[in-house]
Amino acid sequence: MLAFSTKKATLGAFMFIGHYGVALAAKATSPDTPLPALMISTQLIDIVFCILVLAKVEKLEIDPNANPTVPIRTPYIPFSHGLESAIVLSVLCAFGAGVIYTDLTTQALWLIALVCFSHWLIDVVMHVGDVPVAFNRYKIGLGLWNYRKISICLELGLIAFGTIMLANAGVVASWKVWCVGAVMLAGQTYSFFAPPPEPANRLVGSMIVLYAIMTWAGWWIETP
Ligand SMILES: [Zn+2]
Repeated sequence: MLAFSTKKATLGAFMFIGHYGVALAAKATSPDTPLPALMISTQLIDIVFCILVLAKVEKLEIDPNANPTVPIRTPYIPFSHGLESAIVLSVLCAFGAGVIYTDLTTQALWLIALVCFSHWLIDVVMHVGDVPVAFNRYKIGLGLWNYRKISICLELGLIAFGTIMLANAGVVASWKVWCVGAVMLAGQTYSFFAPPPEPANRLVGSMIVLYAIMTWAGWWIETP
């Protein structure tokens, strides 16, 4: 029973990987920007969110009736997903990348910051009115998750777009990009039709593991 629950939760972690399409596309446009840095930056907001949920600072609830696409509610996420936090995290992300990779150009640092902020913009489009602004005073979200077919097409389309862009850019081995893209598409597709994962803590734990694997995948893609 425990093993089955873990399996569900691990696959549930695939629910939020459309953001990686942005990282892959960014790498295609800027070959000198390290892909692991882009893989982390595109999910940094969710990485912080997972840690804060585990620390019981932010709140994630599993609810199959939350919306037709994703069985979660996020009633309290001001420190990871607030507009102000997203701006600060984007700056910190670029700063951290600059410390780790000392030879990055200003353009690469800007790209890393923008990729990080793109997470917030995409979440505003997808989330159902729970993305905080003005220090949690207001909450916004265009609610595309209320439209299941459109959401699925957009999420899968984003992964496919990034995969095709990078595979055809000629800057890394395309077969590696196709491999990672195929795994992401398969995992994302399964997660849309799998039973809802639970409990919340196990889901965010598996999300952190998945994000670590995806960062490694970024390194693997770039390694000759
Ligand atoms: Zn998010």
